[in-house]
Amino acid sequence: NIRKIFEYRIMPYGENHLLLIARDVTRLTQLEQMRKDFVANVSHELRTPLTVLSGYLETLPDAENVPPAFLNKVFSEMRTQSERMQNLVEELLILSRIEASSERVFDKQVDVPQMMLAIEAEANTLNKTKQHHIRFNIDSELTVYGIDTELRSAFSNLIFNAIHYTPAKGEIIVEWQLQDDQAHFSVTDNGDGIDEKHLKRITERFYRVDKARSRKTGGSGLGLSIVKHVLSHHNSKLEISSDVGQGSAFSFSFSSELTIHKSLLKMEKKV
Ligand code: ADP
Repeated sequence: NIRKIFEYRIMPYGENHLLLIARDVTRLTQLEQMRKDFVANVSHELRTPLTVLSGYLETLPDAENVPPAFLNKVFSEMRTQSERMQNLVEELLILSRIEASSERVFDKQVDVPQMMLAIEAEANTLNKTKQHHIRFNIDSELTVYGIDTELRSAFSNLIFNAIHYTPAKGEIIVEWQLQDDQAHFSVTDNGDGIDEKHLKRITERFYRVDKARSRKTGGSGLGLSIVKHVLSHHNSKLEISSDVGQGSAFSFSFSSELTIHKSLLKMEKKV
């Protein structure tokens, strides 16, 4: 039930007639609105850390009168804010690269088991303060055709989100297994969960359930939107099931054409 928007033009037609031309500009108007919202969101996301940074910078000329403990706090906060901006800019670049990408997903094999080992090491570092019990259940013979950097970004965004949005000492399970000839990925946590009313919009750019909380974790609000784009580029779709207070499961599968496993005994694919 989208309200249609039309643009009208009236032109003379012959001696005694007028011609009315109506053009449906609904989609164009929507796209323009999305573009405006996007620019407004990016500006807002950058302005907040910049305001904090410049506020702290003003205290620096006075540094000799400031207690060292306070100064340390100032530097640490400045570092956090600049990391936040860096993170945002990096994720924006990833998004625009995916959108502009003409790379074909069938051209290269990705070494997913190796990639999972690298992500597991990063997850363990990130997990130092949270102390979750994280289990990686990876089929070391299972891989796919795809775009290395994009898949890495999708897997790690989902795994790191599970770490961020699960209260300390939680349970996180990462699975990479063959299911019905398809490579299947899932990450399950027993964390915060997401209310149903947010689920529909959760993969939109900059959409967050709890803005303040997500910012504290360093989140830009772009992670799930990156995952969605990556999966659509690989003809796949993100499935989410979640219960508030119980936890969430994020999963997706790659078609059998993209899946490579010794049990499938496939020959070279030609696409
Ligand atoms: P962010 O950078 O804020 O983490 P994302 O796009 O990755 O952005 O996620 C959007 C929002 O979805 C998060 O702000 C958080 O509220 C919610 N979310 C994502 N993953 C989980 C999860 N595993 N458990 C609970 N909430 C989650």
